[in-house]
Amino acid sequence: RRAAALAASSRPGATADGHRVKVFANFGKLDDVAPALAQGAEGCGLLRTEFLFLDRADAPDEDEQAACYGAIAKALEGRPLIVRLLDIGGDKPAPYLPIAVEENPALGLRGIRVGLARPEVLSTQIRAILRATSSGDIRIMAPMIARVEELRDVREVLLAEAAALGVAAPELGVMVETPAAAVMADRLAAECDFLSIGTNDLTQYTLAMDRGNAAVAGGIDGLDPAVLRLIAQTCAGADRFGKWVGVCGGLASDPLAVGLLVGLGVAELSAAPGQVAEVKATLAALTREHCEIVASEALEASSAAQVRALAANLLRKAG
Ligand code: PEP
Ligand code: MG
Repeated sequence: RRAAALAASSRPGATADGHRVKVFANFGKLDDVAPALAQGAEGCGLLRTEFLFLDRADAPDEDEQAACYGAIAKALEGRPLIVRLLDIGGDKPAPYLPIAVEENPALGLRGIRVGLARPEVLSTQIRAILRATSSGDIRIMAPMIARVEELRDVREVLLAEAAALGVAAPELGVMVETPAAAVMADRLAAECDFLSIGTNDLTQYTLAMDRGNAAVAGGIDGLDPAVLRLIAQTCAGADRFGKWVGVCGGLASDPLAVGLLVGLGVAELSAAPGQVAEVKATLAALTREHCEIVASEALEASSAAQVRALAANLLRKAG
């Protein structure tokens, strides 16, 4: 099994019967690149750019951001890098971007709402990313999208800045982290280039359980059938417009979830850097048909516990 896992990590991600599923890694700093590549990561499906913005007195300027994104793109040696636009808010505060104290930060000014409320922050970051595109295969995605208009607003800034710099605008993806985005996935897919499901937030908002609240966080389970139904709806909506769907939340790192996600139609899994080899090995032990059968059973389940039992059975059969 160890030898098979090692062999799987050096090959492109795929099921045992050759159905291709890209296995990417999530980065929160430049130092994440090397260990992820050592595990066989095929790209970065989520660069959490917050690392550049938090724990400091002043915002990073355009030059600093461009150098940082460019360095990560270079280290990836041509593999895709999906840069997430700044995702801060009341839950992840930055001193130079004061956000009024909110009673309910999870439902407040966070994610893309911050960038749209502070156009100079969004434009500076987008210009920096555009300048870094000469260093690799860079794409952009927007966090916490809840409405199609937000995507349009980001697209407008991206196109304007790209035109001003005289460079081509890279692909623009939407993070599906709100039930609204999952339900509206077809309308979003009509206007974006790809969708990436942030299962951490999608689960929090679907179950109405605050991921930061110890009293309820222990009960949050991304394998809840309610979440799986939203993932299925996202894949169906994206498919109508020929767009691919990835998962960059915690579920992508969970061997129990891998088969279900593939069976639901997910084409790219972006895992924690240390989990990439395990995800590839898990994929290599499953067939697409088995994944699809278990996914359709999971959509009929009435509890996360039942989904977990189905998924564990799939893994056991795969050996
Ligand atoms: C998510 O919500 O699943 C996600 C990937 O974003 P973050 O965990 O950074 O909020
Ligand atoms: Mg999130």
